[in-house]
Amino acid sequence: MRSYARVAVIGGGVVGCSVLYHLTKLGWSDVCLIERKELTAGSSWHAAGGFHAINGDPGIARLQSYTIDLYREIEGLSDQAIGMHMTGGLNIAATPERWEALRSDFARHPVLGLHTELLGPDEVKRLCPLIDVSDVLGALYDRHEGHVDPSGVTHAYAKAARRNGAEIYRHTRVMDLQPTGRGTWRVITDKGEIEAEHVVNAAGLWAREMGTMVGVNLPLVPMEHHYLVTEPLKELVALGREIPLVVDLDNEIYMRQEGQGMLVGVYEKDATPWALAGTPWNYGDTELLPPALDRISDALVKGYERFPAVAEAGIRRIVNGPFTFTPDGNPLVGPLAGIPNYWAACGVMAGFAQGGGVGLALAEWIINGEPGIDIFAMDVARFGDYATPSWVQQKACEFYSKRFVISYPNEFWPVGRPHRTDPLYPVLKAKNAVFGVSFGLEYPLYFAPAGEPPIETPTARRSNAFATVAREVTGVRDGVGVFDASSFAKYEVSGPGAEAALDHMVANALPALGRVRLAPLLADSGRLMGDLTAMRLAEDRFMLFGSGYLQAWHGRWFQQALSGDVTVRNCTDELQGLILAGPSSRELLSQLTDLDTSSAALPPLAVRSASVAGADAIVARLSLSGELSFEIYVQREQLVALYEQIHAAGQDLGLVDFGLHALNSMRLEKSVGVWSREYSRDTTPGASGLDRFVDFAKPDFIGRVAALAEREAGSSRTLATFAVDAADADASGYEPILRDGQMVGYVTSGGFGHRTNQSIALGYIDREAACHTEGFLIPILGDPRPARLVPGPLYDPQGLRARA
Ligand SMILES: Cc1cc2nc3c(=O)[nH]c(=O)nc-3n(C[C@H](O)[C@H](O)[C@H](O)COP(=O)(O)OP(=O)(O)OC[C@H]3O[C@@H](n4cnc5c(N)ncnc54)[C@H](O)[C@@H]3O)c2cc1C
Repeated sequence: MRSYARVAVIGGGVVGCSVLYHLTKLGWSDVCLIERKELTAGSSWHAAGGFHAINGDPGIARLQSYTIDLYREIEGLSDQAIGMHMTGGLNIAATPERWEALRSDFARHPVLGLHTELLGPDEVKRLCPLIDVSDVLGALYDRHEGHVDPSGVTHAYAKAARRNGAEIYRHTRVMDLQPTGRGTWRVITDKGEIEAEHVVNAAGLWAREMGTMVGVNLPLVPMEHHYLVTEPLKELVALGREIPLVVDLDNEIYMRQEGQGMLVGVYEKDATPWALAGTPWNYGDTELLPPALDRISDALVKGYERFPAVAEAGIRRIVNGPFTFTPDGNPLVGPLAGIPNYWAACGVMAGFAQGGGVGLALAEWIINGEPGIDIFAMDVARFGDYATPSWVQQKACEFYSKRFVISYPNEFWPVGRPHRTDPLYPVLKAKNAVFGVSFGLEYPLYFAPAGEPPIETPTARRSNAFATVAREVTGVRDGVGVFDASSFAKYEVSGPGAEAALDHMVANALPALGRVRLAPLLADSGRLMGDLTAMRLAEDRFMLFGSGYLQAWHGRWFQQALSGDVTVRNCTDELQGLILAGPSSRELLSQLTDLDTSSAALPPLAVRSASVAGADAIVARLSLSGELSFEIYVQREQLVALYEQIHAAGQDLGLVDFGLHALNSMRLEKSVGVWSREYSRDTTPGASGLDRFVDFAKPDFIGRVAALAEREAGSSRTLATFAVDAADADASGYEPILRDGQMVGYVTSGGFGHRTNQSIALGYIDREAACHTEGFLIPILGDPRPARLVPGPLYDPQGLRARA
């Protein structure tokens, strides 16, 4: 065993071996992998080996396609057979809702880089004669799907890595990890020690244990999963060719051919978590869990109805094996905040669809400092401390049991809620608020009329909330509304070095005392790292505001990007906020404070410390809605009193409560972008229009060189606003934008503007297309709708109302 390695990858499953291979592929050969038993001795050896390219997230879809394309490469590089069967895959629909969902997904696939086809029942039958298509409405077909030999793939990655110089130590267990104090790790194994610059937790079923070694609870849990393999089927023998993978979405089973028999896997409704107290170290490469056929018998009956021939065949083998699930089913990838040079590559539910992509993204991140594309959907920092083990278990079980259930853009799954609430929660709940959830925290979406159940029906069309949201928006437009902004992230940055440190991190000039500025953050590559709002409360004290669900992500970036004599404090929970919006908001606010709220004294983008309703508050003049608007932040314990005094004072002004649906409607009318939609690590200041908030004259900030280069070269695409001729549904994201039969862009977000009575979509389009206004089409639920490019915000384009 070597004494020093640049990277020590812990775990020789498909994911660890892929990470090792990619590190060597990108040029680091001084790397090793440590495996406690044989390679594959976790989940990998008993996987069904199926792979799918289809995924609703663009980053994950791209990395799944990459994984599939990679298989031939590693087979060639390693001379290790991987048992590749590129059979194609069918996702079949047997209900109208499912068929509509598949058609809607199909319309998005060009944006996600997927090449799928819609097939009718006859074509399904032709491809797969064993299927009973009597109730099938159609199927989504992807030629780029199939199955591999799990052991062959894992060994192919390992062999290819070895050929590139990596070392693999089998039958070697990592017992402990200790920082050396030199920025490296002592990797202590039962066979000796290695000093490593970086360690990668790819320990699969044991990833929780490897997290605990460094004091981290990783949000994943192993889950039991069954599949069975039948004896040969005479129908398959007679067919003489291999049938495609089939996912019977409505019956929640998947099937593929195995030899001349069938492999049938089941996602049962009652998920069974495994080894909650910790994965036993003696679980391993030969044993499986005892089968529990009673748990899957209902699903199997449906499977037999779909594939009658399977019912006739004897069962050759039943597998019940565990693999890990996270609360949202996506992997945990990336560096852990506060633990330098410790990387996660775990929680991978679909190692044979995603293993290659996870390996690539992590290797790029370790070597280049950032992954090649936006992989927030896989980033370990999408979870925070709120993800307690019991919550993780509940959500992972929920995900497992809903694995193939249709999920709608307006849907928030119910299990494990409420998990976190702000002090206003009971007050708003009593007002019939309907809540969404972000970073574990409940926040109001809208306020259902008295007497109606506070439930928004999950749908891809306009929901039962539509008329109520319209009333909330109108109330804001014509008078004043109040919004609970407690879910926004707030950070205090202070100290003698605060200005210098922030000036280096933020691409815009910092605000002057008492002023607010939009503060884009860039990575060295020039891609966006954040869209914060910065306020200056004192020479050496700033507040930064951002999206609440990015707290762990922001925190990790601050640790990397802020240095010097500076203190950063996350005050999201202690400082809670309300937004007052509407033409009467000034009148309302002035009843509660001595602060001069006139435009002369408190102009747009000004911030003051003031007493509001008897509480010490930060008052900022900011508008997401496009109306005159004030944000008020107070200590958590004063939030309810502030809210109640606002309501008391607002009665005569017709004050309304409004939620995020109304705010979203209004920000679309103002063409205001938000993170994860218009802004992400996949975009740049020039394309997103955030370059108007970049101070190119500043001599030093992160990403300056790349931002200047982009300004010089120009960006090939631009963010645009579209008025869509929609019927009863609006765009929701990743629909293609078409012109003259060509895809010229894609939608980032969409919805209905209640002040303009207009369906709206924001999206990126090629610059050449942006010189046209007419002739665009945007498919909504698969149905192409005419769309008109509008040059600026649809509502109050001059911005006069916000500046009133
Ligand atoms: C029944 C079943 C069917 C499945 N079907 C599919 C499918 O069709 N398609 C698909 O894509 N996925 C499928 N999967 C999931 C797939 O198996 C996993 O996504 C994949 O195996 C995860 O790989 P991994 O490398 O992350 O973890 P693992 O395979 O669990 O590997 C982790 C490795 O780390 C080692 N290790 C742990 N701790 C230490 C330590 N302290 N020191 C040294 N080594 C250590 C372990 O011995 C193990 O070899 C299935 C899983 C099951 C159980």
